[in-house]
Amino acid sequence: MKVTRIAYSTALNPGKYAALVEQARRLGRVRSEVWQRFGSVGGTGSGLKDRQVRDRWLVDGTHGSFGVLANAWKETVRDAMAHIAANLAAAKVEARWAVLRRTSDPAERKRMLSALATDRWVADPFLARQMRKHWKRGRNRTHDQIVVRADQHNSVVDRRGRLWLAVPGLERRRMVRIPLSTTVAPAGTLRLILRDGRVEVHYQIDSSQMRSSRRPCGNQTVGVDKGYSEVLTDSDGARHGRGLGELLAGESDRLKERNRRRAKLRSIANNAARDGDRAKAHRIRSNNLGTVKRDRQAARHRARLRTEVFNAVHRVVDKAATVVAEDLTKHFTGRKRLGKNINRRLATWTKGVTAEALASVSARRGSALVHVNAAYTSQTCHRCGRFGRRSGDRFHCTGCGVVWQADVNAAINILQRAGDSDIALHTPYQKVRQILQGRTDRHRTRLPVQDSSPATAERRANHPNRSAMSN
Ligand SMILES: [Zn+2]
Repeated sequence: MKVTRIAYSTALNPGKYAALVEQARRLGRVRSEVWQRFGSVGGTGSGLKDRQVRDRWLVDGTHGSFGVLANAWKETVRDAMAHIAANLAAAKVEARWAVLRRTSDPAERKRMLSALATDRWVADPFLARQMRKHWKRGRNRTHDQIVVRADQHNSVVDRRGRLWLAVPGLERRRMVRIPLSTTVAPAGTLRLILRDGRVEVHYQIDSSQMRSSRRPCGNQTVGVDKGYSEVLTDSDGARHGRGLGELLAGESDRLKERNRRRAKLRSIANNAARDGDRAKAHRIRSNNLGTVKRDRQAARHRARLRTEVFNAVHRVVDKAATVVAEDLTKHFTGRKRLGKNINRRLATWTKGVTAEALASVSARRGSALVHVNAAYTSQTCHRCGRFGRRSGDRFHCTGCGVVWQADVNAAINILQRAGDSDIALHTPYQKVRQILQGRTDRHRTRLPVQDSSPATAERRANHPNRSAMSN
């Protein structure tokens, strides 16, 4: 499994930075061209490979207009095609879910899934509709990146111990040398991202080389539920990553306050512009409404949150040989508009990072990650299976008359789903509901009422499953 590492430039000369920015801008035009021509159903969907695109452009002379070295635009074509292919693959995942929801006939499922896998979905009206829905035609928004092939860069350490990375510039045999703030030389294909006067060098290393890969996993099977005040709660009742709530609340407050201040400043600037004071408007826009500090703070927050999430997942894997969890990537559609709701944005992002951490840490440390259908796991009692009422962090089971910790109850339910032969990963939630309802109904008619407390018995008799309606 691959893990991304980032090295940063330090005290880079502005002239060199400007030259790199210009190269990235020109390569942005290459990307736009690729998206324009191949970013839709007729492009990658038809099985076109990046090599064929390159050959075509060499023949028709398209490449001559970019003003960059051959290796640079060829790598960029490859990168942009890979990006389009990844978009296509993500749309196929959504379409797969749609197929599984639509039919339970094995032959029909097989036919549609194989049509998807082999790119023959255009002919099937249902599949074509699903793909059109999820594969929105994209456009290139990347104008600040340079991809450098593994054999095109080198690095040397100077006498003061500083590491210099040399990458191709706009002219042949004129390398741009970038001082880095690390002593570990980046290897393999590099992605240089130019941001705020600084170069970020992204590269991948094999996770087996990481220190944490030598840490063994535990031997239990553990169910986990994602939370808001902590990253995960496990089925033993332990909470992991308890700093999450504070991190999210702090960031949310900070963002709300900042947005409020910026809105006010923006209106002052707009008023000044309307009254003819262009100098003042410009001053506010460039001094108080910039994006450099804002983006840095956001990056710092993301880094802290990632650390909290990864540490929490490591704690779980310390004791687990098998981690049972909800598939957190399932409803994680990048295209869905989140609007201005800051808390929702933060929660969605955290969910994505948690999914990534579960997959990455499990793979590194050798534990198994089992995804289960989590429908209603937070609304049913793990002991009797009945629907109950959740209020805050408590779960009230009207069947047992017991109050559980809501997320511990959910984690145990998730663990039990791993051995549930009726509820598969793709079972639609309405069907899950029917199954759960059926079980408690059976339970109720077959078994005598164990609990003789009059209040409970009466409630049960009057409203057999009223509590099922909650939430
Ligand atoms: Zn119960």
